[in-house]
Amino acid sequence: MDPITIVDAGPPFSPSSNEINPPDIIIRSCAIACHQGLAKLAKTAAAETLRLPFDAQSLMSIPEYKSMSAHQLLLLLHFRDRCVAMMQLYLTNEVNYETADESKVWWEFEGHSDQCGTVVVDPDTDEMRPATWFYDHMESIRGQIRMWKHANFDTAAKLLCQVEGSGLEAMARCPQCIKAGPNCLRSLSLGFVSVMNATYTQILASSSFVE
Ligand SMILES: [Zn+2]
Repeated sequence: MDPITIVDAGPPFSPSSNEINPPDIIIRSCAIACHQGLAKLAKTAAAETLRLPFDAQSLMSIPEYKSMSAHQLLLLLHFRDRCVAMMQLYLTNEVNYETADESKVWWEFEGHSDQCGTVVVDPDTDEMRPATWFYDHMESIRGQIRMWKHANFDTAAKLLCQVEGSGLEAMARCPQCIKAGPNCLRSLSLGFVSVMNATYTQILASSSFVE
């Protein structure tokens, strides 16, 4: 069975400009801007690094990072860590009944033909989970993103829209899920991009990279 892919996963994540610079230029310009005390440019470059994998080993091979102070590097890494954490939190909240969007089909109690609506995990605590196919889908995405050292919201948004394999087969067994699922996933993806852009902008505004 072919995966469901909704290509239009929402507006592209655009930290600062319409042009995307080559990765090495972004990473090097960020170090130079921080070292030179160019606050505005440092913010722009720091935001653009979010798209890129970023670890100690790769940075050690870039000469410009020898000029950054340890504190500046910590500020940059802290900013990136906060953005990755907010992405993880959002994805976690989508499978938490207390914080999830109950209008999505995977949270509906009734109408499912394959018992794939909301699942009561623990009757004593009223702990609930969304449809198993959706829960597994989100677990898979969170597992992949947990390995990331960056926060590429575009890629994560596309992952949200793509259900494959056994998850897709489970969705297809329920007319209600296969009918509403794709649009709900697209809505989830659009909401994700919107919240990520708004939240990362707030984090960026409160961050400094040139202290
Ligand atoms: Zn269903």
